Amino acid sequence: MILDEIEVVGVDRLSPSFVRVEFGGPCLEHFGVDDQPLYDQRIKLVFPGVPGGPPPSFAGMDESWWDTWLARPEEERGHMRTYTVRDIVGTGPEARLVVDIVLHADDHGEPGPGCAWATSAAVGDRVVVLGPRRGEQYGGIEFVPGTAGRLLLVGDETAVPAVCAILSQLSWDAVGAAFLEVPTAADVLTVQHPEGVRVVWLPRDGAAHGDLLHRAVLDHLGAATDAAPAVDEVDPDLWETPTYSSSGEDVDTATAVGGSDLDDLYAWIAGESGVVTGLRRALVKDLGVDRRQVAFMGYWRRGVAMRS
Ligand SMILES: Cc1cc2nc3c(=O)[nH]c(=O)nc-3n(C[C@H](O)[C@H](O)[C@H](O)COP(=O)(O)OP(=O)(O)OC[C@H]3O[C@@H](n4cnc5c(N)ncnc54)[C@H](O)[C@@H]3O)c2cc1C
Repeated sequence: MILDEIEVVGVDRLSPSFVRVEFGGPCLEHFGVDDQPLYDQRIKLVFPGVPGGPPPSFAGMDESWWDTWLARPEEERGHMRTYTVRDIVGTGPEARLVVDIVLHADDHGEPGPGCAWATSAAVGDRVVVLGPRRGEQYGGIEFVPGTAGRLLLVGDETAVPAVCAILSQLSWDAVGAAFLEVPTAADVLTVQHPEGVRVVWLPRDGAAHGDLLHRAVLDHLGAATDAAPAVDEVDPDLWETPTYSSSGEDVDTATAVGGSDLDDLYAWIAGESGVVTGLRRALVKDLGVDRRQVAFMGYWRRGVAMRS
């Protein structure tokens, strides 16, 4: 893995809610995975604990780096948050890591540390990246459609970087649809995608988070719905993929998938955990989609700061 300092080399305010940050640094020469696209590759960024200060140093740490880092006081340890590799541009020592960060506020109008950092990011600012190193096992790619005949990609703004990265790396003959809910019409981005994949942007413009997404997805699957259901019990760490269950549900990988009209579908769904939970219920419980054909991922939970 790579656990090293990188530096901002470019900042581009793409829209009211997205800022694109381009990072450079010697470690990026080795960043990446072997023999497959990065798709939704997740990474961690560690921001300085004191705005404008240096990021924490991980120099000389061994396999117990996580415990060593967590044991430090917060102002020294900084804040670790999860993001997606939107792109890698350039190669060798010129390689640049591109990350699109959502500018958001919580229900009291306060930004989290990641968002606050991105709001004022400037060339020369430094953070630490934790990500894959070529030639080593790392993990963190959940988009695994296998031989599925059609794709369904669904996300709110936090998953827009991942869906856009997936779309731009799909094979030219891929078939399916992508639904992307964003805060405003001005947040609709240009994205490269195969002709056979329909891309539908859903500007919220004041609607409840996830409502448009829920309706659009169910409509696409031929199921009627009025609105996203209220979901009371939400796992803030919701992570249900064909091979992993955060709820500890048994994942049966032995039996063949079969018995539903949606057997050829592979769905990748990420965003606010309550919204994703509502979609999971609709797809798996109501429509009978085999859970081994779906990755449901809570990228954030309303009212809950990411743990670090
Ligand atoms: C695998 C994965 C990939 C991700 N990729 C990206 C990415 O590429 N770009 C990106 O911007 N985010 C991405 N996220 C989501 C991001 O990690 C969270 O939004 C994170 O909470 C942001 O940290 P923060 O410090 O800004 O806010 P936190 O300190 O974590 O949270 C502070 C408050 O803000 C709220 N909050 C967090 N995010 C939002 C939001 N988007 N809208 C409204 N309120 C919010 C929280 O509920 C909390 O109340 C990803 C998450 C995962 C798990």
